[in-house]
Amino acid sequence: MESKQKTITWHTVVAVIGILVAIGLFSYGGYRYHLLQNQNVLLGNSISELEGNISQTQNRNSELLLALDTSQKQLESLTGQIDGISSTVGTLQKLAQTDPELLKKYSKIYFLNENYLPVGLSDIDASYIFEKGKNILFHTSARLFLDKLLAQAKNDNQDLKVVSGYRSFSNQAGLKSAYKMTYGSGANKFSADQGYSEHQLGTAIDFTTSKVGASFVGFEKTPEYSWLKDNAWKYGFIESYPPNNSYYVFESWHWRFVGIKLAQMLHEEKKHFYDIDQRKIDSYLITLFDN
Ligand SMILES: [Zn+2]
Repeated sequence: MESKQKTITWHTVVAVIGILVAIGLFSYGGYRYHLLQNQNVLLGNSISELEGNISQTQNRNSELLLALDTSQKQLESLTGQIDGISSTVGTLQKLAQTDPELLKKYSKIYFLNENYLPVGLSDIDASYIFEKGKNILFHTSARLFLDKLLAQAKNDNQDLKVVSGYRSFSNQAGLKSAYKMTYGSGANKFSADQGYSEHQLGTAIDFTTSKVGASFVGFEKTPEYSWLKDNAWKYGFIESYPPNNSYYVFESWHWRFVGIKLAQMLHEEKKHFYDIDQRKIDSYLITLFDN
């Protein structure tokens, strides 16, 4: 009987211990579960924080990209402006280096200063000079164009000769008084101020042929004059005082370099240099020595 009771008590103790262990384990598990849950929540918070950071960073990145794009566009626009400025500077330099007198219209009211000197002068090829042994000077920058004209004329079997090119003020004054002595007061009409100024520029030239000579009489009836009418513009030369003009006496022999672009315009529009507005003429200064 006592032994049976002992067994029951033992069993009870074991059961109680078992229950206690189970309760302990269960509590521990619950506690751990609770901890894990908390950690999960914390991790969840961290993840959304990180996600927030990532999206902020992404926004910042697109802002930076946008800013970079804007900067690049500004830089491109600046580069464009600088290019524009450089080309303007180039144009201004070209203009500053081109003597504006070379495209001026001269008259009895507007003529060159007596101290005016062309920037550079050089000798015209001796084989084209009418008077053997005479040195005739021409504007250095325009000479290349004159050389081409003379060479082409020769190639086309034209007997084109040069009587006069650059003339200084004193040269011209001497010539004018000589005319005056010979022709009296008519000299003003014959050798007046317009042609005079053009020769002082160094870009005007008087042509003739071996037959016609330095008097120019009948030059307008020669094939050489016709050739000049058809071809001189291609080399930048124009007839300053054409037949029936209202600004000066007709001088078939007297031609002036004004650049190919302007000469071509005059040729195409069948107009004359002295008919064109000075401001329009001046716009051709930039291309004066262009080929
Ligand atoms: Zn002349």
